[in-house]
Amino acid sequence: MRLKLLAAAVTAAAATLTFTTSAQASHSWGSYHWARTSNPFTLKLGDNLSSNWKSYLSTASTDWSASSVLDTTVVTGQSNNNCRATSGRVEVCNRTYGNNGWLGLASISVSGGTHISSGTVKVNDTYFNTSTYNTPSWKTLVMCQEVGHTFGLGHQDEGQTNANLGTCMDYTNNPDGPLSNLHPNTHDYDELESIYAHLDSTSTVDQSAAVPTVGNSKASWGKRVAHSAHGDTYVRDFGKGNAVITFVIWAG
Ligand SMILES: [Zn+2]
Ligand SMILES: [Zn+2]
Repeated sequence: MRLKLLAAAVTAAAATLTFTTSAQASHSWGSYHWARTSNPFTLKLGDNLSSNWKSYLSTASTDWSASSVLDTTVVTGQSNNNCRATSGRVEVCNRTYGNNGWLGLASISVSGGTHISSGTVKVNDTYFNTSTYNTPSWKTLVMCQEVGHTFGLGHQDEGQTNANLGTCMDYTNNPDGPLSNLHPNTHDYDELESIYAHLDSTSTVDQSAAVPTVGNSKASWGKRVAHSAHGDTYVRDFGKGNAVITFVIWAG
């Protein structure tokens, strides 16, 4: 038992080292994770969605719960229309957020440098109401990807014109194609096992604490730390180890 724990600690340390030395090779950007004292842990996904979106959250929840380290459960949302972050869980919302360029937005608040303390997912009906995006495939992909970000996962690939990798954590021009990008793939589950290989002495899951938040406009997201034609990642530093990381997938 003791040896096993030690082995896990060494693996976690090695994984951390890998993230810092080859950020490109890993898609768990920044190694952000929910603090928890045992695996698998259960994360609540607050449903603030209108009826036409509920099945997509349900699919994403089932898909990600196949992971050996975490489970998700869809619960009644607590943020209504404004999608305000609730500590210890994830809030998921849809709304016509306007022609602001983004199709989907995932934000995670981080405390103590790496521990996720809340997550929000927003999908923009201004674009999902158009013929281009009003398809089950686009809705499945974006919901899956944004929920995936709230666990600390980044993108497997930021290119949009290359072939689909068969994972929702991949940008694309066409979610279907020969290999569909509608669901997580084995690499995503492996990545989650790596991120959550270690255990923490405290938990941020289901805990109440003040969490920093950002708004719906780019101006509030802080510094852009990753960029590609189809999506960007921003970090807003609130000081003392507190930050909000925002993953945006652009429409068009
Ligand atoms: Zn930890
Ligand atoms: Zn993304």
